Amino acid sequence: MTTSRRHLLRSAATTALATALTVAAPSGMRTARAQETGQAPGFYRFRVGRALCTVISDGNLVVPVENYAVNADPAELSAFREAMALEAARHPTQTNVLHIATGDRSILVDCGSGGRFVETAGHLARNMEAAGIDPAEIDLVVLSHAHPDHCWGLLDEFDEPAYPGAEVLIGAQEHAFWTDEGLASRVPEAMQAMVAGAQRQLAGVADRLRTFEDGEELAPGLRAHAAFGHTPGHTTFTFESDGEVLFVSADTFNHPLISLARPEWHLGFDVEKEQAAQTRRRVLEMLASEKLRTLGYHMPWPGLGRVVRDGDGFRWIAESVVWNL
Ligand SMILES: [Zn+2]
Repeated sequence: MTTSRRHLLRSAATTALATALTVAAPSGMRTARAQETGQAPGFYRFRVGRALCTVISDGNLVVPVENYAVNADPAELSAFREAMALEAARHPTQTNVLHIATGDRSILVDCGSGGRFVETAGHLARNMEAAGIDPAEIDLVVLSHAHPDHCWGLLDEFDEPAYPGAEVLIGAQEHAFWTDEGLASRVPEAMQAMVAGAQRQLAGVADRLRTFEDGEELAPGLRAHAAFGHTPGHTTFTFESDGEVLFVSADTFNHPLISLARPEWHLGFDVEKEQAAQTRRRVLEMLASEKLRTLGYHMPWPGLGRVVRDGDGFRWIAESVVWNL
């Protein structure tokens, strides 16, 4: 290619980019097709030993930044936001559901929020289809806890089990907390819909539901680890295959900057806030010491990374995306 032709192409590309950036409304011909196509399907494949794993997105939740630090001194939080260039007041967090295919098992860890929570989430079925994973073939759904973004996807829009062939596993303490009939009358009004939703979902799969205890092996290589506080029975998991380990941190830390740098700052959604903060520091210490590959449900897509120490706190080091398996 001649220099002038290359120059011409480069300037044409620059002009096209400039035009795209200056289109005032995304309704023009140029952007209409791009909008129809939308984003790439939300799934990401990786291996843990012999198992083929897939992170499948359920979409975004949009959370006020203050919610990640409800006990923080406002001036201190403001200085932190300034230092970290956290300009947006609302954080579009991820919802990274894990699928594990071991050859003879098809396992889902958490199952998104279904169609009744928020418009920005509930995309799991669509992304699962794009990933070539058949909901009817899933034989185990393991729940970290019963918050809407993790368990409201148990039932489909007709209130039938979304995974008709699956056994559903949940921690014994978690199950006892949410299914307590008096719970709705004891929680703040803002939490009552959450309680009703969890009770409806868990009742809808009651005939296929089993509870587990801390340390129990739930499937070959998949083990439960109590991480109470975010909810009273919140659980993390390890999955091991052929000597490789993945730690599934669920909602132990929910913001990639705030929750790691300042684990003592309370998350508004933490049910037992002080216990959650202690659990957060304990788990982060363990992850930094053992340099464990981690999948965070709310970490930046696709949610894989490692935790390192940083001063009195920690830092999330996102794993680089690998384009071939
Ligand atoms: Zn969550």
